[in-house]
Amino acid sequence: MSVPTTSGRPVVTRIAPSPTGSMHIGTARTALFNWLYARHTGGKFLLRIEDTDRERSTEGAVQVIFEGLKWLGLEADEPAVFQFARADRHREVVEALLARGEAYRDYMTSEELEAERERARAEGRVVRSPWRDAAAADAPDRPFAVRLKSPLSGETLIADQVKGEVRFQNSQLDDLILLRSDGNPTYNLAVVVDDYDMGVTHVIRGDDHLNNAARQTLIYQAMDWATPVWAHLPLIHGPDGAKLSKRHGAQAVGEFADMGYLPEAMRNYLAKLGWGHGDDEIFSDEQAISWFDIKDVVGAPARLDWAKLNHLNNHYIRQTDAPRLTQLVAGIHKSRDWKLRDGDLPLLERTIPLVRDGAKTLLELADSTVFVLKARPLELPEKAQAMLTEETRGRLSRLRDRIAANEAWEVPGLEAEIRAFAESEGVGIGKFGPALRAVLSGGSPAPDLAGALVSLGKHESLARLDDVLSPAP
Ligand code: GLU
Repeated sequence: MSVPTTSGRPVVTRIAPSPTGSMHIGTARTALFNWLYARHTGGKFLLRIEDTDRERSTEGAVQVIFEGLKWLGLEADEPAVFQFARADRHREVVEALLARGEAYRDYMTSEELEAERERARAEGRVVRSPWRDAAAADAPDRPFAVRLKSPLSGETLIADQVKGEVRFQNSQLDDLILLRSDGNPTYNLAVVVDDYDMGVTHVIRGDDHLNNAARQTLIYQAMDWATPVWAHLPLIHGPDGAKLSKRHGAQAVGEFADMGYLPEAMRNYLAKLGWGHGDDEIFSDEQAISWFDIKDVVGAPARLDWAKLNHLNNHYIRQTDAPRLTQLVAGIHKSRDWKLRDGDLPLLERTIPLVRDGAKTLLELADSTVFVLKARPLELPEKAQAMLTEETRGRLSRLRDRIAANEAWEVPGLEAEIRAFAESEGVGIGKFGPALRAVLSGGSPAPDLAGALVSLGKHESLARLDDVLSPAP
């Protein structure tokens, strides 16, 4: 059931990114909170591409946003709205504001504006245009901007769901430009018109837009439109508490994907950045949806914590079924130019459950499966060669014959076999284990001995041993 807003309408939230060529995790978190709130209330989650900066808004940059949201599993409920394409509608609202007497044409030249700025600064007030109260008949024949006729006194109250009540003195707000003298609508105007037309009931976004909320409220009021509920989210900071920057590592959604984080781990992690449900660290989308309320978002900046993210990612890697992990890992191998052969996928699928427990990322998981993909005969690193003394070779050869008789080829049976073998030889596993592992893996990371044997399968395991113990002439 959808929960109506104070104005009685069902909840509509939106994410409104400006294409920049990458999708910041702050944007991802904002998208997630909007998505969670829409799902929690049975409402809708929409996407608007704020593409009025024509140079930056290339097709590729727009694609990055679609792909980022898709990867995160936060796709919008309706096709995206493109802001630039709506410029005529924005101009129409400017006309309406002029007709209502809520806006005026400002004919100040740039020199006049500069001089007024100087005066305003010296007098400690905001810029005021002499055209605010001029008679229409006085209008000169030259380009003009359109400004909002903002109230000169009183205050604008933003009852923010996260920040609490934030008050702005109207005398501190100049008459906002709605339309530039080149005919282009301004950002704040476009946002209000688009949010209104899209039926947005809750504006949940970064707190760098809190000041805009005051400006935008004045436009809503001038049009007699109900204002949305505001919720301004604190920024995400680096682990050291400083504003997130390059030196803290990855910042873009695509980078997290490339580093091998799972989208569900990312969702769980981002949900915890500024919101939480008691001490719960790990929760499903369903739980987050049922628990999430915008009022519970904390006002203080959230700090990125790599250890927590890694912990969550490891959890989700362990939860994910082998076929999906296999596809993901195969993708990583391919991107690293491994030529996967027929039969490599089942091999990976058999190996992954044996190696995934320690993997913090999919890259680590991929690393720990490289050993099964290697083609025979394996190149052994020098360290491994040095381990293969006569004595060790003899021992591995006896072990080989012993396990060759093992039919089931399963981890517990092989473990027992190896233990029994060590006992029968009167040595610890440490005497031959490292050499066996090196022969099986060629020095790459690999699971425990029995795990490595099971991953490779009986035929390949014995063949790798034979390559070393009785090499073909
Ligand atoms: N386009 C703005 C941004 O990317 C968001 C504006 C809004 O959410 O109102 O920061």
